[in-house]
Order: sequence, then C-alpha cells, then structure tokens
Amino acid sequence: MSLFGRTPASRNLADGDRLEVAGAAVRLKVNQRARRVSLRLDRTRREIVATAPSLRRLPEAAAFARERASWIAERLAELPDISPLGPGMLVEVFGRPVRLEAGSGRARWVEPLDGSTPRIVAMGEGEGFTRAVILVIRKKALEVLTARTAHYARILGAPMPKVSVADAKSRWGSCKPGLRGAPGNIRYSWRLALAPFEVADYVAAHECAHLLELNHGPRFWAHVRSLVGDARPHRDWLRAEGARLHAFGR
Ligand SMILES: [Zn+2]
Repeated sequence: MSLFGRTPASRNLADGDRLEVAGAAVRLKVNQRARRVSLRLDRTRREIVATAPSLRRLPEAAAFARERASWIAERLAELPDISPLGPGMLVEVFGRPVRLEAGSGRARWVEPLDGSTPRIVAMGEGEGFTRAVILVIRKKALEVLTARTAHYARILGAPMPKVSVADAKSRWGSCKPGLRGAPGNIRYSWRLALAPFEVADYVAAHECAHLLELNHGPRFWAHVRSLVGDARPHRDWLRAEGARLHAFGR
C-alpha cells in the first residue's frame, strides 16, 4: 500500500510535503521566484525536489513528478552508493587511509608510533559502530580545522575565531566575524575530514579570509589566493564529490 495514496488534487498539499514516486522521496517546494513547475535532484538529501511557483500550483508539480517517474529513477541510480561502515574497512581522513577496527572501551583514534596506518577503534556493530566512528572523525575534523584556522588567522592578522563543526547540508563552512575586536565564529562541516587535506585546507583559508572581507569580491579572492593559490581545483572537487561526502555513514 502506498503511504501517500490518493490523487494530488484530492487533498491540500503543503510546501515541504513528500510523496513517493518510483520508490523515491519527492519533496514539494513552493518558490515564488520560479517561473514554472520543475524537477531537480537534491544530491545531498538524496531526494527529488518538485518546485511550483505558488501553493495553488503544487498539485501540478506533484502530477509532473509522477509523470516523470523514469527520469526520477535514472537520477537516483546515478547517486553514489551508500555503504555502511564496518570493522576492517579503510576510510580516508584528510586524505590519509585509516583502518576501522572493532574494540572495547571508548571510541578513539589510535596513531601507531611506528608511523603505520592509524586506526579508529570503536565498539558495537551496524549503526552503533558507524555512529561511534563518525564521532571520532568529527573530533579529528575539529582538531585539524582548528589548527588550520589558527594558522591562516595568524597570517591574515585576524583574531582567532571560535571554531566548531556541524553537519550542514548546504555549506562547507560559514563565518561570522566578531564585532569591535571580539573573536568571530567559524563553523565547518565535519565531512571536510573526508576530503583530501588540501581541499579542507582551502575551505579553512576561505572562511578565514571572510574574517577580513565579508563578501566574495576581488579583495576577498586576493586573500584566498595569497593563502592557498588557485581555489578552482578545490571548488571543483567539492562540487564533484560533495554528494559522496554527504552519503558517508548514512
Ligand atoms: Zn565564502
């Protein structure tokens, strides 16, 4: 039985409602700036967004999604696979291979003194194991990104901001400069730990440049260039691989 049943016109649809088409979630969205009804794939949330220019036209967007079931199935088939994390797996953290291992005690990062492959040791299995591993990677992300932020803030002569990590869907970093000499705030996606070091490092330089320039104007990009050189390869990498980073551990 379908959870969503009934024809779209037979009930009141609301902005944010979800339907199921071709086994996929379709989120209905009202965007007053849209000119027409349209469909797109939200790679981060792994769902289809059906947009209508007004609430009145949401049923039309829902009907359009149902008509395009095969298009939807094709888009979803293109998404990277989600693989659960398990002991024995190798993952890359800031571009370094790290071995996942089952073990008792608190979940932790183990850095062997002989320089061999680091390990993440965690208890449990299935989702519990995955959650514990992610907690350790998150901690590592905060540690490394805090160090890189301190490095770039120092070069730019900006006061060291407060650094935190979160799991934002749409941004890799955000920056709120402090007012009147107070330290600002920079928040990163912990998933940057799953990117190569240079890419995560570029995001740190980008956010630190915002401590001086709250825009993406020529002066802002000049700061970024002075810190890490050409930003384009890193931005391209995030655009191409971002969905995989967001799929990790889900
Ligand atoms: Zn920016």
